[in-house]
Amino acid sequence: MTFKAAGKAPSDLAFVPFVSVDNMMKNVAAIGVEAFLSGLADYIEEDFLRWESFDKKPRIPAHAPQGVIELMPTSDGETFGFKYVNGHPGNTRDGLQTVTGFGVLSDLSTGYPVLFTEMTILTALRTAANSALAAKHLAPEGATTMAIIGNGAQSDFQCLAFKSMVGITKIRAYDIDSDASVRLARNLAGSGLDLTIFKTPEEAIEGAEIITTVTADKKYATILTDNMVGPGVHINAIGGDCPGKTELHRDILLRSDIFVEFPDQTRVEGELQQLAADHPVTELWQVYAGKASGRVSDSQITLFDGVGFAVEDFAALRFVRDLLPKTGHHEKLDLLADPDDPRDLYGMVLRAGAAGNGAAA
Ligand code: NAD
Repeated sequence: MTFKAAGKAPSDLAFVPFVSVDNMMKNVAAIGVEAFLSGLADYIEEDFLRWESFDKKPRIPAHAPQGVIELMPTSDGETFGFKYVNGHPGNTRDGLQTVTGFGVLSDLSTGYPVLFTEMTILTALRTAANSALAAKHLAPEGATTMAIIGNGAQSDFQCLAFKSMVGITKIRAYDIDSDASVRLARNLAGSGLDLTIFKTPEEAIEGAEIITTVTADKKYATILTDNMVGPGVHINAIGGDCPGKTELHRDILLRSDIFVEFPDQTRVEGELQQLAADHPVTELWQVYAGKASGRVSDSQITLFDGVGFAVEDFAALRFVRDLLPKTGHHEKLDLLADPDDPRDLYGMVLRAGAAGNGAAA
């Protein structure tokens, strides 16, 4: 029982729908992971199609040698959203996640939050949905085989999104830590995906029409060298998402047509940081809107240089907000003060004290 205002039932507006990790898992289970991924992709596409209505800025980072914490805000003029997210590649050594997050969606007209949610699971879902959405426009038609280099927390979600949205049936997996690949194979058993584990990245990418790189290391890594990438392939490069952290050899970029979310952010954080500041790129929203071409030839190498942008998280928050009335899987969080008289905030504190609420023993 909360003590918000004497003699007044707390208004529903004072409680913010809160989705815990437990409830996020229940929400995913309620509609199924593949329906969740494709529903989320629809919301992302919808928001990319109204790209110009968003207030867009690169995310705001706080760097440490071990990783980064970032705030990702955006608004469409009616609703504001932000995500708090970290990226700490060394965390798994201590049993911690590399990426965790939470986020808020708010009504811009009152400033009141309308959703507060965990975004560790939701980020993995939105990243996968976003990758598969891009691949629908960029991958070779009829692609059935995807190599996935880096078999950590994001990888299962990536595989499932490419299965349900792109038609991938075969996964060729590689990780420097073979236990990670075994874990991925175990989780995807029964998913309908035919997964094979390889001992080298060279073997893993053989014959794959799509290559996903989703490794975590805070350095200029070379997960793929130039000679590994043949014509016609689509590369879904997800792991390089921070200054000083990349996955592809620069020569691959020079042979590819590069597609990005928001160039101002990708040039600082993505594979693009290896190229000149004016290197030509195509913005994905323009491809979705039919204003720019996606894949135009069988021999073209398309590269989605994905870093994760605030509009995708905004779409994910909207998707969860709209899902909650159907599933009911959330709690009411006592986050906002709700005095009888909105100006009598201290009076509410006084009355709570007089009633002995929270008094020290
Ligand atoms: P994770 O730590 O759970 O998994 C990373 C995996 O990469 C590990 O299994 C590790 O062994 C493997 N790995 C590291 N170096 C490798 C190499 N040279 N070759 C093969 N495998 C290697 O991390 P995660 O949560 O899966 O995230 C992976 C990366 O994706 C991180 O860098 C994260 O920041 C990034 N990410 C990007 C987005 C985006 O929107 N672009 C979103 C979420 C996460």
